[in-house]
Amino acid sequence: MAVEREAGRIEVITGPMFAGKSEELLRRVRRASIGGRRVQVFTHVLDDRGGAHRVTSHVGLEHPSRSVDSAGALAAEVAPAADVVAIDEAHFFGAGLVEVASELARRGHTVLVAGLDVTFAGRPFEPLPTLMALAERVDKLTAICVVCGRDAVYHVRTSPEAAEDVALVSEHVGGVDKYEARCRRHFPA
Ligand code: ADP
Repeated sequence: MAVEREAGRIEVITGPMFAGKSEELLRRVRRASIGGRRVQVFTHVLDDRGGAHRVTSHVGLEHPSRSVDSAGALAAEVAPAADVVAIDEAHFFGAGLVEVASELARRGHTVLVAGLDVTFAGRPFEPLPTLMALAERVDKLTAICVVCGRDAVYHVRTSPEAAEDVALVSEHVGGVDKYEARCRRHFPA
């Protein structure tokens, strides 16, 4: 008879750009590796910050990763023996990530999900809000408002070619060259 694995879980790390989501994901990945757990790290092909095959933070922390183009492709690459499945830039994967993360957790994996819960237009950004509802643990981080230094739960797009099309996920790629963190008071209504 096959030995059943421990029950898995979903842990969400979320917030606006610059909140330290990738840093926190990489911190947990590092701790799991130190503890001898088998870790697989994924990001989306749309995230070109560190070049292919690396998760990177805005301050240059990094870890090898696999780039995939959909939640289904991610699911197909998960090794049955992986203890921890870490997914950065989860907002790029769309609604399909909810079922994939839930199924991976049912199979016994610890699924770490980091991604934006808000668009640069200040609207909820799926699939993070749904994953937050279904997770065992949620850490909602804040950035620092570049105007006043308060906690920022939003980010705005500042580049001149700023597109209005928030539905296009590829419009959410970039760093300090294109975006600024803003508190509620300094988020343009
Ligand atoms: P995220 O994945 O949430 O976009 P990262 O983990 O990549 O964030 O980067 C977080 C780092 O970005 C911070 O530790 C800090 O050094 C840097 N940073 C740059 N601008 C800001 C800001 N406005 N607020 C907070 N951190 C910022």
